[in-house]
Amino acid sequence: MQTLRFIAQSDLSWLRRTVPRTEWFTNPTTVNAFYSSSTNQIRFPAGELQKPFFWGRDYPRSLTYGAIGVIVGHELTHGFDNNGGKYDKDGNMEQWWSNASITAFTDKTQCMIDQYNSYRWEEAGLNVRGKRTLAENIADNGGIRAAFEGLQKVDRRE
Ligand SMILES: [Zn+2]
Repeated sequence: MQTLRFIAQSDLSWLRRTVPRTEWFTNPTTVNAFYSSSTNQIRFPAGELQKPFFWGRDYPRSLTYGAIGVIVGHELTHGFDNNGGKYDKDGNMEQWWSNASITAFTDKTQCMIDQYNSYRWEEAGLNVRGKRTLAENIADNGGIRAAFEGLQKVDRRE
């Protein structure tokens, strides 16, 4: 309860203050990665930048591209998903896409919503709610695509 109280008080202390654009909210040992729309920032703590995500030169590069490459692509893609795309380069909630782009984006996301709606967990009798998971699904698909294209580009240079 003391921990929860501390976290709640810490979170509330940020209300009505200017967004701290250079603040680092993550411990270096955290094994995770983050995107923040309000600071237009992606974060990869040191804990994430090692095996089994980052493999170094002694291993096939496909391991690194398939792990941290996908994660980097995932976080970058969040900046352009159905939430991140609503924030401008400064992290302000400001429309910076044309109306035509927003319409085209919304039309294309319906395909992804339909696809994920069809995924079913039989034992639970539940389907994925594609609209609810849309941002993560966009980021996952964008991340794996960016990593695969990056790997192919590097492989072609050799
Ligand atoms: Zn994500």
